[in-house]
Amino acid sequence: MNFREKPYDAFHVSTDSAGVMTVAIDVPKRPMNVLTQSVMEELEAIVSDIESRSDLRLVVFRSEKESGFLAGADVRDIASISGPAQAGRLIDAGQQLFHRIDHLKTPTLVVIHGPCLGGGLEWSLACDYRVARDNSSTKIGLPEIKLGVIPGWGGTQRLPRQVGLVQSLGMILQGKTLSAHAAAKIGLVDRAITPEDWEVGVNQFIADILRGDVRTQRPLRKRLLRFLECAKPARTWILHKTRAKIRSKAEQYPALPAAVHAIETGLQKQGAGYVTERSEFVKLLATPTCRNLLNLFFARESARDIKTWATHAERADIHSHEIRRVGVVGAGAMGAGIGQFAATHGYDVAFREVDESAAQQGRARLEKLMKTYADRNRLGAEKRRELNDRVVMSTDDDAIVLCDLVVEAAVERMDIKQQIFARLDGLVATDCILATNTSSLSVDAIATSTTHPERVAGLHFFNPVHRMELVEVIRGAVTNDDTITRLVAFVRSLGKTPIVTKDSPGFLVNRVLFPYLGEAVLMIGEGYSPAEIDRELRRFGMPMGPLELIDQVGVDIAKHVASSLGHVIEGLDPVVDVLTDMVQRGDIGKKAGSGFYRYQDGKSVPHKVAALSSPVCLEPDDGFANDGLSTIQRRLVYPMLREAVLCKEQQIVREDWMIDLAMVLATGFAPHRGGPLRVIDGIGVKLVHENLKRLQTVHGNRFSPPELIAAMSAADQRFYVRERSLSTTESQRKWRGNDSSSSRSIR
Ligand code: NAD
Repeated sequence: MNFREKPYDAFHVSTDSAGVMTVAIDVPKRPMNVLTQSVMEELEAIVSDIESRSDLRLVVFRSEKESGFLAGADVRDIASISGPAQAGRLIDAGQQLFHRIDHLKTPTLVVIHGPCLGGGLEWSLACDYRVARDNSSTKIGLPEIKLGVIPGWGGTQRLPRQVGLVQSLGMILQGKTLSAHAAAKIGLVDRAITPEDWEVGVNQFIADILRGDVRTQRPLRKRLLRFLECAKPARTWILHKTRAKIRSKAEQYPALPAAVHAIETGLQKQGAGYVTERSEFVKLLATPTCRNLLNLFFARESARDIKTWATHAERADIHSHEIRRVGVVGAGAMGAGIGQFAATHGYDVAFREVDESAAQQGRARLEKLMKTYADRNRLGAEKRRELNDRVVMSTDDDAIVLCDLVVEAAVERMDIKQQIFARLDGLVATDCILATNTSSLSVDAIATSTTHPERVAGLHFFNPVHRMELVEVIRGAVTNDDTITRLVAFVRSLGKTPIVTKDSPGFLVNRVLFPYLGEAVLMIGEGYSPAEIDRELRRFGMPMGPLELIDQVGVDIAKHVASSLGHVIEGLDPVVDVLTDMVQRGDIGKKAGSGFYRYQDGKSVPHKVAALSSPVCLEPDDGFANDGLSTIQRRLVYPMLREAVLCKEQQIVREDWMIDLAMVLATGFAPHRGGPLRVIDGIGVKLVHENLKRLQTVHGNRFSPPELIAAMSAADQRFYVRERSLSTTESQRKWRGNDSSSSRSIR
């Protein structure tokens, strides 16, 4: 029998006759539980109640929402922190509360399903036992580093003690999440329970606790490793190696060394670790990296919100037009990826290929992708069969006829695409959307081959489909709102992030990226070495340099896109010439073993070894104002900044944040800098304007400042409202001066 106790807004608390109290979290009006201030206050009241009772034998924390246990602290609360004193109070409150949970006399168990992230995991770590549902939606981790901060509620202290130094460094520094199975293997959860055995398994575990008979699933080898790394020399060596590994990124991502510092301090002296964790968190919150990553977080939330793209009327209508069956024309590199991804997200997928031989190749591609997915998600034979049954590959139109959406991913030729669309137009129902995955052709021109151009749009996935989060949804001149809304909802349902762009050459991402790639190609002709160029851009914060990227994408594909952008982007013609020569020589990039680099055993070897003998100049040179960039960085980054401004001028997207988010998600544009427009704000519009003029004088009109930059510079404007941000020194000063609790230890 259950006794319901004092009512709370976010919790249902009940105690059964065996003395087991269940505290079930269900934060109202939130699709996913998050720890807001009021939720924390209620949890504190519940903890006080538990502390005062002697009749309890076990407290079970779990979620009443099917969406999961807890997504962490409310990021809006974090972003709205007004200064170090408030940040310190927030950290104190969480640390104190979890300390009390950690020290409850009654044993505590957390029952985890779905996300258990950030503050959710920190709460779980303060409990005695954890069990987790072993399916693909369970994700356990401390992703704070992705927002430029470190876990602040004891995560840097309790995780190393729970899973050891090596595992915790991996989890905290990469912000990676673990499945229930992986978490059980390292001792982060006591038991991973399959969905089929879920309730029975949880009840069994509770019974085991009550009987005092809990056995861990952690393998002996892992336990042995934990034991070995406890020795001081081993720890010192691990921390030394870790510091060396993060050194190159430490300046851009100060949370990395801060996390190592907090972990190390905690290993030396427990109480001091919490103080360090707290002070490092407060300092990090004031860094530009943290602000930029928070802005990107909110931009991503907005892009994933259907309200950003749809009017109220369309939103109400969307369910009646739901997409269930997806057709894919062409099962090549992109088509196979799109179809596979749709199938793994529950859609029925029908492929159409030109002939049996192409269909065979398509099947092989698809099988490979499906196998990788099934292996990674540890799917059983039946689930694999179910997944494969969702897909048909055919050389006739029959399977396509019943689709609600057809994505064309055939070769990049206007005549072929127009033929395909004309045929589809007469084949499918009038409310079926026809989308093209073209990267450079005009959606409007493709749509002219149909009788219903209002249901034609672009749906531009990036390569490889399963890894790239961004999808550009391209609105043609006559594409209707319903088509766009349904496509945005479809992209969302795949767990990807949509950005709606105007139909214009290169749309948004390729348009901003290609001036940068082109400039790198031109610099090779001037004697710069690929290695030097790529190294400098990695230093700027790109995941790989421009020439490495061209080699990876394929010189042939880059040439194709560059040719189609030639009439909108100034200065691309000589770039196309260089790329054409390379294609004719067979130097088409990594897939051929040769491009800007040679590849041996999957590793790159530069064609020319460091032709640049002069050191990279970090000071203002040749009349450039100091923007903090090296000569090579400035030469390559400014073309992107300039093109981003032109895209704003020409309203390729509706709002500025869409440009920044798209570039970060699709190209890895230095996330800590927040995107091209934020970089301009960071340097200062005036200064960027000055340097563009100077670059124009030295290198030509492809650097001419856009009118908008000139106007904004004259009016002393920015793209974004200036943010209230406390410098580190200011925050430290205020911190010492105003808050006497700064040196207080909770231990
Ligand atoms: P691909 O050459 O790998 O595949 C094209 C497939 O289309 C082939 O299997 C071919 O047999 C099939 N095909 C050709 N004509 C057809 C027809 N009439 N009916 C049915 N199937 C037909 O090409 P890809 O790299 O997958 O590119 C496909 C599209 O995606 C292109 O428009 C390309 O610009 C775009 N795209 C490519 C990338 C990339 O990195 N590869 C990225 C984004 C977008």
